[in-house]
Amino acid sequence: MISTNSPTAIVIGAGIGGLAAAARLARNGFKVMVFEKNSRPGGRCGQLLCNGHRFDTGPTLFLMPEVFAETYSALGHSMDEQLDLRRVDPTYSIRFGDGSQLALTADINRMQVQLEAIEPGSFSGFLSYINEGHRHYRVSLSRFVGRNFYNLLDYFSPANLPLLFQLKALTSHYNNIGNYFDDPRLKAAFTFQNMYLGLSPYDAPATYSLLQYTELADGVWFPMGGMYRVIESLEAIAKDLGVEFLYDAPVDQIEVENNRAGGIRLENGIRITADVIVANADLPYVYKNLLPETVSTDNMERKKYTCSALTFYWGLDQTIPQLGTHNVFLAGEYRQSFDRIFEDLTLPDEPSFYIHAPARIDPSAAPAGQDSLMALVPVGHLGPKGSQDWRALKDRAREAMFRRLGEMGLSGLDKHIKFEINYTPKDWQNLYNLEKGAAFGLSHNFAQVGYLRPRNRHARYKNLYFVGASTHPGTGLPIVLLSARLTAERILKEN
Ligand SMILES: Cc1cc2nc3c(=O)[nH]c(=O)nc-3n(C[C@H](O)[C@H](O)[C@H](O)COP(=O)(O)OP(=O)(O)OC[C@H]3O[C@@H](n4cnc5c(N)ncnc54)[C@H](O)[C@@H]3O)c2cc1C
Repeated sequence: MISTNSPTAIVIGAGIGGLAAAARLARNGFKVMVFEKNSRPGGRCGQLLCNGHRFDTGPTLFLMPEVFAETYSALGHSMDEQLDLRRVDPTYSIRFGDGSQLALTADINRMQVQLEAIEPGSFSGFLSYINEGHRHYRVSLSRFVGRNFYNLLDYFSPANLPLLFQLKALTSHYNNIGNYFDDPRLKAAFTFQNMYLGLSPYDAPATYSLLQYTELADGVWFPMGGMYRVIESLEAIAKDLGVEFLYDAPVDQIEVENNRAGGIRLENGIRITADVIVANADLPYVYKNLLPETVSTDNMERKKYTCSALTFYWGLDQTIPQLGTHNVFLAGEYRQSFDRIFEDLTLPDEPSFYIHAPARIDPSAAPAGQDSLMALVPVGHLGPKGSQDWRALKDRAREAMFRRLGEMGLSGLDKHIKFEINYTPKDWQNLYNLEKGAAFGLSHNFAQVGYLRPRNRHARYKNLYFVGASTHPGTGLPIVLLSARLTAERILKEN
């Protein structure tokens, strides 16, 4: 219930982080206004509709359902009432460079048969690896990801330090996988998931074995109607709680005085004041573009960023039954492909890629007898101006995918494409103001996680908070939902 004395909050951006934070604040008595530069909510979790074809433009993997369930429940709803979730199993099929395949599945017997065929004896390695992932998941969620850190000692406390070692936070994921598997295909199959966080497995902490655990144990899910259903449901809940949404309303400046943020100025010149400002727009962009220049602005330039993506949305005039819901095609030159992305900021010579075929699980994603495919090719984030020719790289990525699909008996798929929409890193930057077009925001190396990640409250302007992928705890829909919980808890505690 909003009273005339209710504290007020402005949220900049209607991404999943902005939506969830706005709804949580409204439920706790704040009067909230959300200003979004685009005409619809969702940000990176977007949707395209074209001639009866439906595409989720960003996220396609619904992981860690318990975190979504907690969000809905904190807002007075149940996830089951809001989303019609279906489990995807096999979670995805992986095709290796040599033509062999592995279907990752929660069916342990099937995993055993497949793994032993690739590397005799590897099944016991798999069980130990999943066990480690379970430990990492539980400890990370309860002690690092699911809580606020208010000072450095909080983070490097005597209680936490041994846990950082237990979580193998200083060991690279790829080095660690050698403890469980010898075959390079299995090492790749159980480390490429770091790309969900926009990280190379050669840089990512071994902590992220938690991803494989949660995929297989908690499952990969799909909301019927598409991932965008999550956005639609959160927007509707927020509106019911009294949140006011203003679309096509780009914010130009956060107005600050002394140690406080007084309000915002929109691009059209209108000024709005509030007790609390919550920035959901990408954090480095906010520091560089919406706030006065300080040392922190330069610091953003020195930080490490995640990779970007070339994405293709294809409407096809026929179904492609050889493709499952999620399909991963891994490069033979695994190490080299990451070096090309993260060091040379380009497209690997032989790229790995992912294809999502939502109509396989939800026929409403395409007209009857047709298909909607989303293809994602990881590439470097934006480099110095003029150093990357995205048109040429996009064409090369498309050719590489068709060549690889042809090798698995899908030659001629390109002839069935009725239309193509695609995004380059420049589009990701322009659409959502993502710094360097980095699809997943700031990187998650050891120096940029926990207390070391840019914090969810500004150091000087004490009523300016952040929510989203580039603040604590990090990227990915469930992690951003945790960010919304942590930021809202902090605002309620401090205001
Ligand atoms: C291609 C791709 C695939 C992905 N796949 C997955 C996946 O399978 N599973 C998963 O869990 N996660 C996935 N992710 C990650 C996930 O999408 C993000 O972590 C998450 O959506 C980020 O949400 P956010 O609220 O932090 O930011 P955003 O979605 O970026 O929202 C920020 C909002 O702020 C708005 N904004 C920016 N500047 C201004 C301004 N000046 N004024 C007003 N509004 C402004 C933007 O338009 C945007 O709507 C993927 C991401 C990408 C790009």
